[in-house]
Amino acid sequence: MSVAEFPLLRPVQNFVSTPRKMLIDGQWQASQSGKTFDSFNPATGEVLAKVAEGDKADIDAAVKAARKAFESGPWHLMTPSGRAKLLWKLADLIDANTDELAQLESLDNGKPFAVAKAADVPLAAELFRYMAGWCTKIDGAVLNLSVPYMPGAQFHAYTMREPLGVIGQIIPWNFPLLMAAWKLGPALAVGNTVVLKPAEQTPLSALRLGELMIEAGFPNGVINIVPGFGETAGAALSAHHGVDKIAFTGSTEVGKMIVKAAAGNLKKVTLELGGKSPNVVFADSDVDAAIAGAASAVFFNQGQVCCAGTRLFVEKKIYDKVVSGVADAAKKIKVGHGLDPNTHMGPLVSQDQFDRVTMFLKSGRDEGAEFVTGGGRVGTSGYFVEPTVLSKTHDKMKVVQEEIFGPVVTAMPFTDVEEIAAQANNSVYGLAAGVWTRDTSKAHRLAKLIRAGTVWINCYNVFDASLPFGGYKQSGWGREMGKEALELYTETKAVCMQI
Ligand code: NAP
Ligand code: MG
Repeated sequence: MSVAEFPLLRPVQNFVSTPRKMLIDGQWQASQSGKTFDSFNPATGEVLAKVAEGDKADIDAAVKAARKAFESGPWHLMTPSGRAKLLWKLADLIDANTDELAQLESLDNGKPFAVAKAADVPLAAELFRYMAGWCTKIDGAVLNLSVPYMPGAQFHAYTMREPLGVIGQIIPWNFPLLMAAWKLGPALAVGNTVVLKPAEQTPLSALRLGELMIEAGFPNGVINIVPGFGETAGAALSAHHGVDKIAFTGSTEVGKMIVKAAAGNLKKVTLELGGKSPNVVFADSDVDAAIAGAASAVFFNQGQVCCAGTRLFVEKKIYDKVVSGVADAAKKIKVGHGLDPNTHMGPLVSQDQFDRVTMFLKSGRDEGAEFVTGGGRVGTSGYFVEPTVLSKTHDKMKVVQEEIFGPVVTAMPFTDVEEIAAQANNSVYGLAAGVWTRDTSKAHRLAKLIRAGTVWINCYNVFDASLPFGGYKQSGWGREMGKEALELYTETKAVCMQI
C-alpha cells in the first residue's frame, strides 16, 4: 500500500516536504542543537516529514518567551473580549482548513481521513468557540463576612480569578489536533501563555495549528510549540521552574513521572491518563443499538482511545447474542490506509504500539482467552491489527486489567446489578463507562455506583466542549473541557478591605 495511490492536497504536500521548525516567540526556528527527527506514516512505515528536535535549551527559550508574553506586551493588556475574538478567529481558520488538517492528521496518525474530517477537526474548532465564549465570563463573587473577633467591623470582600501564568502542556498521539485544542483552549481563554510539546509520533497538526494561531493574530510568545522527545523536551518542560502548571495527557506511567518532576517548584499538575472502561449491556437494552455501540466504543480510532469501552460486560441471557454481534461488526470493519475512502480503521500509530498490542494478544492467548474474531496482523507492511473480540476472559487476566490501547475488547457475562457495579469498578482506572438499558432508574443507579469521570447511557464516546472529561483513581487529576477545565487554569484571589 503506497501513499502515491492517494493524492495529497497541495498544501499538505508542501507542508510535509519541508522540514518543520518549532514555534518560539512568534518565530519558526530550527532547534538550537540543529537536530531533527522523523515523523512516520504508520500506514507504510515510511518517513513522512522531518521535524526540529527540541530539547532542554529550546524548552528554556520557549518558557522565557511565554513568561515575557504573560507579563508584558499585548497579551497582558488584551481584554477578555480581545482573547475571545482571537479564539473564535482560530476556530474559523480551522474550519476553513478542514480538509488539509484532516489529511495531515490521517497521514501522521493513521486514522481514516473521513473520521478526522467528521470528528477531530470540527471538535477542535468547536472547543475553541466554546472557550471563546467563556473569556468574558470569568468572574468572582462579593462575599459577606462575619469575623467573630472583630465585632461591628464591616468589610468589602471579593474574589477574582486570575490566570496561573506559564503553562506547560504535553500531549499524546491518539488525537493530536484535538488534544492540542483541549489543552490550549481553556489555558488561553483565561489569559495564560503556553509551551506545548506534541507527541514525537504526531507533531504535524499541532505545528500547522501554530501557523493558524499566528494567522489569527495571537501575539508573539503566547503560544510556543516545541516538538521533541518525552525524555528530553517533555522532561525539561515538566521540571522547569519557570512553568506554573503542567497539563499532561498520556500513559499513567509517565503521568507519575510528571508528578515527581513537577515537585521541584510545586507547579500545579493536571493529568488525563489511561483507562480500562467498563461497558455494561443489560438484557432489557435495545440490543442492536448496544451491539453497534459496544463495537464502536472499542474499535473507534483503532482502539487508541483512553476511554475506550474495553471491558464489555453483558447480562448472561443475551451474552452469546451480543458477543457474536460485536464479532460480526468487527469482521465488517475495513482495515486500510487512512486516505482510502473505503477505510473504517487505519493502522496503529507506530511500531512500538503495534508491538505492544501484539504482546497483549499473545498474553490473552497464553492465559486462555477465546478469540471470537481477530487476533492477527492485517497485511505485511504498516501497523495494521485486526479488530479483536476476546471471550472466556476473567478479572485476573492481563488483557482485562491493563490498558491495551488497540482494537481489542474482552467480553464477560454477569447476572445482577449489584455484582456488575463491583466488577465494573475492579480496576485501578476510572475514566469512563457505558450503560445500555431501557430501565432509566437502573441506568442512573448504576451511573451513581460506577467510579468514573464520565458515564454514557445508551451511547458511547460522546464528546462535547461543555462536558467535563477526566478520571477517577489512576485515570488522572482534574478535568478537561467544560467550565471545570477553566477553573484549573486559574487561581482564586480573595481581596478584603475594611470599610
Ligand atoms: P506516553 O509516553 O505517556 O506519551 C505521552 C506524551 O508524554 C508524549 O508527548 C511523550 O513524548 C511524553 N513523554 C514521554 N515520556 C516523558 C517524560 N519522561 N517526561 C515528560 N513527557 C514525557 O505514551 P506512549 O508511550 O506514547 O504510549 C504508551 C501507552 O500510553 C499507550 O499504549 C496507552 O496505553 C497510553 N496512552 C494513553 C493516552 C491517553 O489519551 N490517555 C494517550 C496515548 C497513550 P514522546 O512523544 O516523545 O513519547
Ligand atoms: Mg506519524
